[in-house]
Amino acid sequence: MALVFTFSCGGCGRTYSVYYPKALMYELSGSAPREMGLKEDEEDRRSGAVDAVRTRAEAASRIFVDASQELERVCVCGKRLDFNIMHHPRVPQSKQLLLRRQTGLIPFPTVPKKS
Ligand SMILES: [Zn+2]
Repeated sequence: MALVFTFSCGGCGRTYSVYYPKALMYELSGSAPREMGLKEDEEDRRSGAVDAVRTRAEAASRIFVDASQELERVCVCGKRLDFNIMHHPRVPQSKQLLLRRQTGLIPFPTVPKKS
């Protein structure tokens, strides 16, 4: 199962579907050696799970990002987006919770602008 989180740009509201390979999650969270995830990631790629989430994201007009390739990106509106999941306090830090949440898309509510 490919792990995907959805982010909204706080500047323009564009949505990004970010794919987190398990090796990357393990590396970022420090919960397990990176090598442990490599096999699962390979399986997700081989089985087409990664292609499926990409297709679903693009069909919903979301911008697909592979977090192992790009952990941050500057949105077309100029806002810098940080995809490092460990920098997002909404995401539970414990590995147990992360594993329980590997069920596809998790909608992140857009934070209302303070104006
Ligand atoms: Zn933007």
